[in-house]
Amino acid sequence: MSHLHIHSLNKQFGQFTALADIELTVAKGEFVVLLGPSGCGKTTLLRTIAGLEQQDSGTISHAGRDISALPPGQRDYGIVFQSYALFPNLNVGQNVAYGLNSRKAGRDAFRQRVDEMLALVGLPGTENKFPSQLSGGQQQRIALARALATRPDLLLLDEPLSALDAIERVRLRSEIRQLQQALGVTTIMVTHDQEEALAMADRVVVMRSGRIQQIGTPHAIYRAPGNDFVADFIGRSNLITARAIAPHQADYGGLMLHSAQALETGKSYRFNVRPEDVQLLDGAEAQDNSLYARIIKSEFLGAYTLVTLAPAHHSLPPLQAQFSSNYLAGRSLAVDSHVRIAIPAASLCLMPDAA
Ligand code: ATP
Repeated sequence: MSHLHIHSLNKQFGQFTALADIELTVAKGEFVVLLGPSGCGKTTLLRTIAGLEQQDSGTISHAGRDISALPPGQRDYGIVFQSYALFPNLNVGQNVAYGLNSRKAGRDAFRQRVDEMLALVGLPGTENKFPSQLSGGQQQRIALARALATRPDLLLLDEPLSALDAIERVRLRSEIRQLQQALGVTTIMVTHDQEEALAMADRVVVMRSGRIQQIGTPHAIYRAPGNDFVADFIGRSNLITARAIAPHQADYGGLMLHSAQALETGKSYRFNVRPEDVQLLDGAEAQDNSLYARIIKSEFLGAYTLVTLAPAHHSLPPLQAQFSSNYLAGRSLAVDSHVRIAIPAASLCLMPDAA
């Protein structure tokens, strides 16, 4: 059952198309993340759901109500922005109570609600502090408490973590996710950070140039990207084209690749190989889809080393591979050293035909 339903939504800024034919349904209690590069329209989509932008055409319905033309105040949501957006002259308690005040809640009731909300975001007893006395992460927790204080049916988060340092960002993202699940509040979050999207979302909506590219669970968009853009944008990828020469065999520039999936002989296929699926081999033992390669770039990144490899004996383009530090056991991955690698047959993920 769709709780929020966006149908055929379009938005132009002059000649510029910010949103093109957006179709999206969100279930009650779901956490949906809008993900894409800068300028892809994700914030515009969130602001349109909030009524802070008006679409040129299309409809939005929420909990069975057509809200397409309603002003923000008549829509039922709480929102958190990137830049905290707390009132600097109001203390924490007054900030959290802001929406309650304007809804004329009773004095005791809203004091109690403020206490509840501050406890919920892990900052009890801070009601008399001012935003300037709080860290960025604490301010964002207060912004979240304010957004949730009125018990909105929908929570909208516009890059809520991007102004925070890396450690605080990771901490707060799991807090937000836990809170969202505990409250069961339907949530739509905007981010350009793919890891954040994968870590938090029930479903991710990948956008580019105002259009939705793919909607799916984090696992689905990572393991079965719908197009090259999604494959490249979510994680790293090697996109290779090979021609089937037998039902499970394809010719990749002279290298014979065994594929776990059945292929149609004579047809060209495109595969995605994730760098972490490439295996580093020890000796010269027989192994499917193995090849020798020279390391042309090597980056040690702590938990793993990311290398760019130039395949030997074949006129193949460079391959990216990622080797876990645990398995390297002192092996050198220095530039110009030669290694033997394999691409496991099951790691050749078939891409849909290019549009
Ligand atoms: P970012 O992460 O950079 O905010 P985004 O995906 O959220 O990217 P939007 O903010 O939705 O992108 O903007 C989409 C495009 O629409 C951008 O190219 C932006 O310059 C343009 N745009 C947004 N708001 C307006 C406006 N009020 N007037 C004109 N153009 C706008």
